[in-house]
Amino acid sequence: MFVISNPWGCMNSSPLEIQSFNSPLNQPVINLRRLAINSKKEFYAEATEHDWIKQIILEFDEVKAENVEEEIPPSDLSLKFSIQKKQNETFGEHVLLCGNIICQFNVECVRCLVPVHQKIMADFNICFVAEQLAEKSEYEDTLSLFIDQTGYELYFYSDNSINLIDFIYETIALNKDPFPLHDINCKGLCQFCGENLNKVACIHVKGS
Ligand SMILES: [Zn+2]
Ligand SMILES: [Zn+2]
Repeated sequence: MFVISNPWGCMNSSPLEIQSFNSPLNQPVINLRRLAINSKKEFYAEATEHDWIKQIILEFDEVKAENVEEEIPPSDLSLKFSIQKKQNETFGEHVLLCGNIICQFNVECVRCLVPVHQKIMADFNICFVAEQLAEKSEYEDTLSLFIDQTGYELYFYSDNSINLIDFIYETIALNKDPFPLHDINCKGLCQFCGENLNKVACIHVKGS
C-alpha cells in the first residue's frame, strides 16, 4: 500500500486550476500529452449525446423496447469526472480521475424473464499510473492506492493515453445486481411447459 502526501488531490484542488468546466468527451480516449501537470479539467459524456457511451449501455441492456409488449423505462448512461495529471517520484506521471457514473438499463428477471429496471449510481476515485510500473514488485498485488488520505483504485495507462472503456464496463458490471428479480416472490416459469407461474397456474404445479 502506498501512502504519500498530496496537497492537490481530487477533494481539495483550487477552482482556479480548472481550465475548462464540463467539456463534452467525444471519444473514450484521453491524450495525456494534452494535459498540463497539476491542471484540472472536467468532462462529461452522456448516452443521449455521445455514441461511444451509448454503445456501452446497449451491451448491458438485455431487453429491447421493440421486443416487449409492456412499456419499459428508457436506458441511459452518463459520466462526469474531473481529471488531473500529477507527477512525483513515487508514481511518475500519474492521473487522478474522480467522478460518478449514473446509468439505468433493463435486464430480465432471472426466474420469469420479464423486464427488470436497474439503476446504478457509482462514485469513483481512480489513479492511473504508467503501465511500466505494473512490472514492479510493489504493484504485484496492489489494487488501490492511498494518496492524501483518499483511496484510489489503481489502473494503468499506456502510450500516454487513458482509455475509459474498461473502467466504465467494470464499474457497471461490479455494481449491477447479479441476480435481478422482478419481485422477490417471483414464482418463475414452469419447468415443464414454460408458463409464467406469476400469471397462471398450469397443470404441473402441485396442488392445482
Ligand atoms: Zn420474475
Ligand atoms: Zn407447467
